[in-house]
Parts: sequence; structure tokens; C-alpha cells
Amino acid sequence: MKIKCECGGAMKEATLKQFDFTAMAGLPVVLRNVRGLRCAKCKGQTLTGSTIERALSAVAFELLKLEGRLVAEEARFLRHRLQLTQKELAARMGIHPVTVGSWESKIEPISPQHDHILRGMVLAELIEPAGSEPRAGRMRSVLAQVRKHAPAKTPRRLVVAGVAKDRMRGSAERFVAAAASRLLERMEW
Ligand SMILES: [Zn+2]
Repeated sequence: MKIKCECGGAMKEATLKQFDFTAMAGLPVVLRNVRGLRCAKCKGQTLTGSTIERALSAVAFELLKLEGRLVAEEARFLRHRLQLTQKELAARMGIHPVTVGSWESKIEPISPQHDHILRGMVLAELIEPAGSEPRAGRMRSVLAQVRKHAPAKTPRRLVVAGVAKDRMRGSAERFVAAAASRLLERMEW
């Protein structure tokens, strides 16, 4: 498949040392050594759709690791990654839509609690992205409905099958760390 640049030159696959992803992310982001396309004539650079998707997920993951509360643009970026409207996010979090609007419009900073919930929702989404595996979206649907139910009266009986050694090694925290590193491996450009 030949892709033409706007200038008429041929776009060729290349490793782009530096790609300004700011316009696509809506946040100041530079991608390093990303696989993309470069115009043989004007040297214009672009990314393909699947790379853009992977890069957006990688940006989301980097945001989760940031210290300090999210700023408006970062919180909005994460909401977009969840593919939720302000109203839908508010419903998931059990808060008023105006609250979401106010942190995204810089009227009020996001509260520590809401920041925490938002990052947790995105982390769940990154570990089990919709449509990627049989368990796809499971965590997301659990998070979506957890608020609708009263706490259980007694601990629920769990049946845990096929416990792998590497899962046994550690706590939930380690499991999440392992899932995150698998995620990053998948994102190697
Ligand atoms: Zn060109």
C-alpha cells in the first residue's frame, strides 16, 4: 500500500527519532523512536492508526505514574481514554456531572479521592482493554456496577482456578505491576 504525503511525495516506513504528539494527544507529548512514516520529499512525519492508539495508551500509563494531582488537561485526556462523556464518568464515580466539568474547566482542582478513582479506572482499562482478550472489559464492568449494590453480608465464596506460579509469588500489587510491565512490553514500538 502506497501512502502519499500532502506534498505529493511518497511516505516510507521509518523509525522517527522524535515525534511531536502534542496535537494528537491534546497534551505536550514527545514520542521517541516511534515507528511511523516519513515523506521522502518534504520529510514530513506521521503515524499510522494502530501506533496512535498504542501511543495514546502509553501516554495514559505515563499519566498514571505522575506524582501530584492531575491537572485539567490530564484528567480530560484520561476520561477520553475511557471513552466516557463527563456525564458518564460522573455516573460511574457516583458524583455530580458539574464536579467533573469543574475540574476539567479549572474551576476547582480535582479532589485527591476523585483523582484516585479516575486513575484506578484507567489502570483497569489498560490492563484489560476492551476487546483484547476473553476477559476483556471484565474489570471495567465490575467497576461500573459496584456502586449499584449494597455490601455483601458475608464474604463471597471464590473459586480460583489455574493459579500460576508467578501469580502466587506476590500480592495484588505485584500482580498489577506484572500486568503493567506486560502492557509496556506490548507497547514496544
Ligand atoms: Zn511530503
